[in-house]
Formats: sequence, structure tokens, C-alpha cells
Amino acid sequence: MGSCAVCSTWEYGGRMRDGGGGPPVYSSSSHILAPKFAVLVGHNRKIISSLKIGGRRRRRMSLNTAAAMTATEKLQKGIAELYDESSGIWEDIWGDHMHHGFYQPGSDVSISDHRLAQIRMIEESLRFASLSDDSLQKPRKIVDVGCGIGGSSRYLAIKYEAECRGITLSPVQAQRAQELASARGLDGQVSFQVADALNQPFPDGEFDLVWSMESGEHMPDKAKFVNELARVAAPGGTIIIVTWCHRDLSPSEESLTSHETTILNKICDAYYLPAWCSTADYIELLKSLSLEDIKAADWSEFVAPFWPAVIRSALTWRGITSLLRSGWKTIKGALAMPLMVEGYKKGLVKFVIITCRKPALLRLTTNLPATFHNPIHY
Ligand code: SAH
Repeated sequence: MGSCAVCSTWEYGGRMRDGGGGPPVYSSSSHILAPKFAVLVGHNRKIISSLKIGGRRRRRMSLNTAAAMTATEKLQKGIAELYDESSGIWEDIWGDHMHHGFYQPGSDVSISDHRLAQIRMIEESLRFASLSDDSLQKPRKIVDVGCGIGGSSRYLAIKYEAECRGITLSPVQAQRAQELASARGLDGQVSFQVADALNQPFPDGEFDLVWSMESGEHMPDKAKFVNELARVAAPGGTIIIVTWCHRDLSPSEESLTSHETTILNKICDAYYLPAWCSTADYIELLKSLSLEDIKAADWSEFVAPFWPAVIRSALTWRGITSLLRSGWKTIKGALAMPLMVEGYKKGLVKFVIITCRKPALLRLTTNLPATFHNPIHY
């Protein structure tokens, strides 16, 4: 396998490591097939010969696997602790949506508009995915992957009169999300649990709408992440991924610049993020799963006022005292906020929406001959 921008284990500059390891390096996305896809497109010989290798090498490989698992576990522990620690203060100041707002460029916004802008983000995402409000076509079962304190889950459940299941790594978030649902009389209709998006506790084909609002950037294995989203989607179901990406590489580029890598590494360190990928990388992954109606858009300009507003709110008396009472992970996150502003300004950080549909008739599969796949409309 060559250098991979999207893989189960991240291979950069000759090193292979799990996404939860040390600072990631961002390299060419020209070859983005994950090992699991490589098996399906003709790299079988390499895989089979690696199964035949002798004892010492095999032992070394299993030790590497153990080390890689530890890195993922470490990353997920950090994510859980970050959100356990910071969700209360976020809710106090910003309410129950832990995502960017969607703003019309040039509009002058007050604090109450930021909350409206977060709702607008949900509505614009649904519109982009052409989700129907029609009572016969609207989603009945929804999963909110990386649900925070359940802002989207409750909103979508009420809007569509649907059942919604939310998963998060943070026990504090899951509990708070459920309390807020109960307070709105949504018990039974909306439920939350601590679970891993990369290994979801749901059967195949369960949900008409698979929703991931700003959780994808935390996933150390983008191929597995997308695979799980597709697995739990019902035939004909819609998948919506709104996430942070780095800019697409141009055909002549092998990697991001070292200055760009330095900025991303600092952001990753502050927010417990593994290596990022580009929008083009996501599209390749979705295509490899034969998903349909794949669409993507760069919404960076529509979210530009968000981080400056978060920084302003952190610098108020209430913001500062809350931060001081929170903990080191939250403070570290706050100190890194100007880096997000810089990343957007430089065109390095991209706020992206990617949507697609699981084929209604074709069983989701990656191992059929290319000619058997449905056409991809991207
Ligand atoms: N979607 C929510 C919260 C975004 S914050 C909102 O818009 O309000 C990111 C969320 O992703 C957190 O809830 C975090 O726990 C969750 N997350 C990150 N990695 C995850 C994983 N591997 N499995 C499940 N949830 C994850």
C-alpha cells in the first residue's frame, strides 16, 4: 500500500500508525484505498502472502496491532474526557447544539442569532441532502452518530416525528442528552447511549437517516467510519456527514506544506483529533461502497463568523470563570481556537457537507465486479 490519506491504519512518509498516535503528517491522497478495500480490488496476492509469513514476523505484526489498538483507545479516552469536561460549560453559554452555525456571508450577527444559525445548519444540511418533508417519505428512524448532548437528535425527532438513537463516547453527554429529552417528553422516542461510531450497536439497514454532525473529524479510521454509516443505513436511506476536512491536494502535490501540517497538528492535539482527510478522500470512500447521489460542498464561507464568536464568548467574564472551573482539556481547546480561524483564513481547514444515499435495491457490497455496481452520480 502506498501513502494513504484514508486508511484503517494511517501510513505517512514510510511510517504506518494508528490515527490516535502522535501528530499526524498529511500526505498525498492519490492512493486512498484502505486495506479492506484493497482486498476487494485485486491486492489479494499481497495479503495472502503476508498471511504466510513466519512466526517472528507474525508476532511482530500482532505486537504492532496491539500498539495500534492502544493508540485508538487512548484517543477515544481523550475524546470522552474532553466532552465529559467541557459539555456543561458549552451548554451554559451556547445551548444544546455543539456545532458550527450557518451564516449568510456578510450578515451582522448577535448572540441569539448564533443559536438560530446552528438550527439553520441542520436545516441547510437536510435541504442539501434533498430530504423530504413529505409525510410518506420523511425519515422514521434516525441515528445521530456522535450526538453530543443530543441537540440534533431531539430536533430531528420532533421535526420528522421519528425515532432517534444517539451515540457518543462521553457518558456525561449521553446522560445529559437523555435528561433533556425527558424534559421535552421525548422518552421512548429518543434515546442515547455510550457507543463507538466505528462499531455501532445497531443491526444492518436500520436507519432511514444516518446523521453525523461534526463527529467525523474525531474518527481515526475514516474507511471504517464510512463503512459503519453505510452498514446501518436502510436501503434507500440518506447519509449526511458534516465535518472538518483539510483542503484537497492539487494533482501536482504530494502532501500539505510543512507549515500547514504544523497548524493541523496543533489543532489535532488540542481537540483529540486524529489525522484529517480531504473531501476528495471521503468521496473516494463513498464511491468504493457504491453509494449513490454522492454530493459534497465546501461551506467554509458560511461558517466564518462562528469561531470568532466562540472566542468572544470565551473572553467574557462568564466565559473566563467557566473555563477556569472546567479543566485543562477544555482550556487547551479554548487556547487553540485562534488556530481554527487561521486554518479557515488560509484555506487549509474546510467545513464540508457530504451526502449520499444507500442504493434502494442493491445490497451494499464492495466485492462485486465494477460492471455490476450501480452508476455513481457524482
Ligand atoms: N453532533 C453533536 C456533537 C458534536 S461534538 C452536535 O452537533 O451537537 C463531537 C461528538 O462526537 C461528541 O459527542 C463525541 O463524543 C462524538 N464522538 C467522537 N468520536 C466518537 C466515536 N468514535 N464514537 C461515537 N461518538 C464519537
